[in-house]
Amino acid sequence: MKAVAVFPKERVLRVIDDVPEPRIEKPTQVRVRTLEVGLCGTDQEIARFQYGTPPEGAKYLILGHEALGEVVEVGEGVKGLEPGDLVVPRVRRPCPREECRPCRQGRPDFCLTGAYTERGIQKAHGFMAEQFVEEVAYLHRVPKALREVAVLTEPLTIGEKALKELEHIQARLPWGREGSTPLHAVVLGAGPVGLLGAMALRRAGFTTTVYSYSRPPDERSALVDAVGGRYLSSQDVDPSALAARAGAVDVVYEATGASKFSFDVLGALGPNGIFIFTGVPGRKEPLQLEGGTLMKSLVLKNQVVLGTVNAGPDAFDAALTDLQAFIERWPGALERLITTRYPPEAVPEALTGKSDGIKRIVHFG
Ligand code: BGC
Repeated sequence: MKAVAVFPKERVLRVIDDVPEPRIEKPTQVRVRTLEVGLCGTDQEIARFQYGTPPEGAKYLILGHEALGEVVEVGEGVKGLEPGDLVVPRVRRPCPREECRPCRQGRPDFCLTGAYTERGIQKAHGFMAEQFVEEVAYLHRVPKALREVAVLTEPLTIGEKALKELEHIQARLPWGREGSTPLHAVVLGAGPVGLLGAMALRRAGFTTTVYSYSRPPDERSALVDAVGGRYLSSQDVDPSALAARAGAVDVVYEATGASKFSFDVLGALGPNGIFIFTGVPGRKEPLQLEGGTLMKSLVLKNQVVLGTVNAGPDAFDAALTDLQAFIERWPGALERLITTRYPPEAVPEALTGKSDGIKRIVHFG
């Protein structure tokens, strides 16, 4: 079958068509026909050989970690799924170490050892192939009404996990969350993770500003307007003027992977504020910080800086619920986020050339 694979040693990214079709080998497995796979910044880094590792002993890594597929066969021990069902898979698989409590409890997104695998990224083949086989425990059933947008589930789970953690952190305040609403969230970056995060924040009741490089009006700022957010360009408003211009900042949701820009915005965070990093920078970027000022602000303003990666089953469930809610509240908005669709053959150029549009999707069949 056909797949898109990276050969890191040979520094090649290409379509291969001699991959053996995967077979069900355990009663709890499911065979899935791939429908769509999203492309993201992580795939671009893998395509540039800056990130990602093939499975043990393999020459190549099949890409793809944001997938939507259709079940074609289920093992005899599988309950709750049948051929014809739509599914999205989770990305990370547990490490084998006995002492890793998060992995043993089914939460490899909090793995302690770093020996986890990630499909399409870290030592496990991804979903950018005509078919894949997966354990039923890592698949989420998708309502048919979400067929056109469910490929956005995985990038939305990043924000959903962040929101869940945010809830816990806000609960530390003596008056809890309720006493402090509506809160103002600033989303850094207007890529798919940022825009989906902005929608989730709006739905959770936050006043939301998306703060990004490009100048409005464009398709990104229009989408922010459509979901009731506000868009500001960093070319028009300096991070030092952000709070004065946009209002006190209670939460920052970083979705850029740009370290200097992000740390500049950290200075705009208000009292009791929470700064959430989600980006995984691909390159080194020199950074000079006024350590004393930063530390003083963190302490005197009771601030929290949080990093979050990957997502567990609860975040996938929340993402699927939210996608349905977004469709009802902002008809057409999610469809506008998906700007480009490619066949697998176009992926090598799409990932290494100039990237345009908002969300780029690979379709199979
Ligand atoms: C993926 C996550 C993954 C992370 C680090 C992101 O692009 O969405 O699932 O954990 O990269 O590899």
